[in-house]
This record gives sequence, structure tokens and C-alpha cells, in this order.
Amino acid sequence: MTTKRVGVIGFPVEHSLSPIMHNAAFAALNMSDWHYDAMSIPPDILRLGLREPKNHGYIGINVTVPHKEAIMEYVQPDEKARAIGAVNTVDFRTNIGTNTDADGLINDLRANQVRIRGQRVLVLGAGGAARAAVYGLLRAGADVAIVNRTKSRADKLVAQLRASARLDGAAVMTLDQAADWGMSLIINCTSVGLHPHIEQSPWIHGLPFPEGVTVYDMVYRPANTALMQQCVAHGGRAIGGLGMLARQGAIAFELWTGVQPPIDLMLRVLQETLETANED
Ligand code: NAP
Repeated sequence: MTTKRVGVIGFPVEHSLSPIMHNAAFAALNMSDWHYDAMSIPPDILRLGLREPKNHGYIGINVTVPHKEAIMEYVQPDEKARAIGAVNTVDFRTNIGTNTDADGLINDLRANQVRIRGQRVLVLGAGGAARAAVYGLLRAGADVAIVNRTKSRADKLVAQLRASARLDGAAVMTLDQAADWGMSLIINCTSVGLHPHIEQSPWIHGLPFPEGVTVYDMVYRPANTALMQQCVAHGGRAIGGLGMLARQGAIAFELWTGVQPPIDLMLRVLQETLETANED
């Protein structure tokens, strides 16, 4: 029996939860001929490093930091990846690179019964994750405002999406302006609050949250971030980003295998892994 290999490339990549999540799914579906592993490839040898999985017959790979943008030169980015400006999943059988982050986020919002169409949504951040979020949200019919520490980066994001996908409708604001704008959903796409800086929040202390707002925090280490705690303390609802991780992975899983993955199990494995890590 030949092993069907898939994996993730990044640098560093040892912390990635994707191998645990995908291998648990393979085991649950009795797909013992499939295996997912992590490959560390330094940025300066990305082109050469990509030969490794290709020559060893890998079916596909996930791509994580810092390669998501650089890899676009070596694969054929599909429409979504071109619009977002980053590839996080490659199918070596076609050499097509796609981006599953936007759909992972939108699918997780829907799984949590969060309304998107016609809603005002505030995106905090303007990096790669924010680009995927804004793309997904605009496509799903939301009105989007972006607040970022470096305003010029947010301006660039809006201009890029307009040029690459003819997507209009995102406005760049300050946090003060956004608080007056009155949104129903806030999505944290910054790395603020990420372990070990768990006391930090991208929301200014004391600034009120709009009534009935939901905060979705892409940060999932810790499971309950300072931003999520602030929002709940003000009567809002908070959702952590682990579901997005599971759902973006699930899209890649189905692309490579043609099999529907057990998303609930993948999510549970991620939760258990992080809980165990916290006990160490
Ligand atoms: P990135 O491209 O490096 O962007 C980082 C963003 O965070 C930028 O907007 C940056 O603002 C902002 N930021 C960083 N430190 C800040 C600070 N001290 N104060 C204010 N803003 C700050 O990273 P990314 O790839 O977009 O990822 C962002 C986060 O999303 C990471 O924590 C990542 O783990 C998470 N993520 C989660 C999922 C998931 O599946 N849940 C998927 C993708 C990403 P400037 O532009 O001003 O530097």
C-alpha cells in the first residue's frame, strides 16, 4: 500500500496543529493510507524546498507563515488566491494554489449562526488574515470597515481588493469612528492577544461595545482572549478562532481526498490538544 502524503510547509512549523487535526480525521475515516506531516522550509530556499514534497509524490500541501504570499510565484493561483493575494492550499496534481481562509471563516460564522449579509462588520487588522476576511465578508454581502494600527496598510488592502476582485464597500476607519458606526460583528484579524501576550486586546479599554455585538477572534491561543472577555463583560457574544482553523483545513482535506471530513471531530481534537498544552 503506497502512502498518500499531504502536509504543511512553514517556518517555523513545529507548532502547527494541522498534522494532529488531519491525521485524526484520516484515522476516524479508516483512511490508513493517508498521512499528513509538517515540513520546515526556510524562506530563502522556498523554490528548492518545494521540490521535496513534489518529488516525493505529495498530493498537496497547506502553506503557512511566512510562505503564503511567496509561493504564488511557483503555483497557479486560482481566482480566490489571486484576489486575496495569498495561497494556503496547493494541489500538486494540478499545481493550483487556492486560499481556504475566507471560506473557513465564513463557514464558521454560519455554523455559529452569525448573520453576515447586510450586516455592518468591523475587521481589526490589515495583514493576510484580514485580507481573506474582508474578501469573504464582502462576497457574502456584508458592509465592512477596517481599523488597523498602520492605516496605510488598510488603505492598501482596500485598493488591492478593488483591483484584484473588483470588490468595493470596505471603508478604512479609526477605532473611534468605528465605535460610532455601530456594527453587529467585530472580527479580530490582528495577532494582538496571542499567547504569551494574553492580557493584550486590540479594543481600547473602556470603549463601549455596540449593543448585541458579536466578537469573532481569529486568535485561538488562548481559547478565551482578553478581547472576548471584554466583549462578554459588556453583554456581547464571543467566538474563538479554532472553528475557522478546523473549517479551512476541512476544505483542503476534501480538495485532496474527495472525501467529506469529520469537522466536529477535527474541532474537538484541536480543542483537546490546546487544553492539554495549557496544562503543561
Ligand atoms: P500578519 O499578516 O502579520 O498581520 C498582523 C496584523 O496584526 C496586522 O494588521 C498588524 O498591524 C496587527 N498587529 C500586530 N501587532 C499589533 C499591535 N501590537 N497592535 C496593533 N496591531 C497589531 O498576520 P496574519 O497572517 O494576518 O495573522 C493575524 C492573526 O490571525 C494571527 O494571530 C494568526 O494566528 C491569526 N489567524 C488565525 C486563523 C484561524 O484559522 N483562526 C487563520 C489565519 C490567521 P500593522 O499592519 O500595523 O503591523
